[in-house]
Amino acid sequence: MEESAKIFIVEDEKHIARFIQINLEKAGFKTAIEHNGRRAYERIIQEKYDLVLLDVMLPEMDGMEICKKVREISDVPIIMLTARDEIKDKVEGLELGANDYMIKPFASEELLARIKGIIKRRREVRRQEENHFIIGDMILYPDRYEVKVGGEPVELTHKEYELLIYLVENKNHVLSRDQILQQVWGYDYFGNTNVVDVYISYLRTKIDDRFGKKYIHTTRGVGYVVRD
Ligand code: CA
Repeated sequence: MEESAKIFIVEDEKHIARFIQINLEKAGFKTAIEHNGRRAYERIIQEKYDLVLLDVMLPEMDGMEICKKVREISDVPIIMLTARDEIKDKVEGLELGANDYMIKPFASEELLARIKGIIKRRREVRRQEENHFIIGDMILYPDRYEVKVGGEPVELTHKEYELLIYLVENKNHVLSRDQILQQVWGYDYFGNTNVVDVYISYLRTKIDDRFGKKYIHTTRGVGYVVRD
């Protein structure tokens, strides 16, 4: 289960803010509330929120100005909350970079649907952008030290993971034992060069043998290579 998103409710009408908060928390979101515009701006840029609900009319700094200033430095999703007679605000808000708008009063189901839609799209984009390698059924996330084969997570030690990443980064290129040793164990490694063969055998046990595939190939007299 993914961690619940944190929604920042910026609304000076306290009963409305509280009403939104109750509904969001009931739906499993984390929330924070701010009634003052200037403090809201400061909190948006200092704290980490997954989405901001931003009222337009606020004390000290209005929602439009907040949106404009936040967009100079952050792409946090923003849904503007505008009153019915402030339709021009909606256009201006979107021009300033708000992702969506809601006209008050709104049904909490509608607000929840918009929030869920934005957060879902954003998580999908993040997932696609995240650095990863795909070799056949194997997918590696170097930033997270994670590897999955056919969707199944594989438990590797740190060294095993570094070795696998090095092989995968050089997919289809045969790497010599010396190259692997220098890259994965470092130039000042004084141990036995057999360590490479030993770790290759660990990886084969955990990946090739377990999943009945052949990713790690030996090129006799040269070294090792990962192939699709
Ligand atoms: Ca207001």
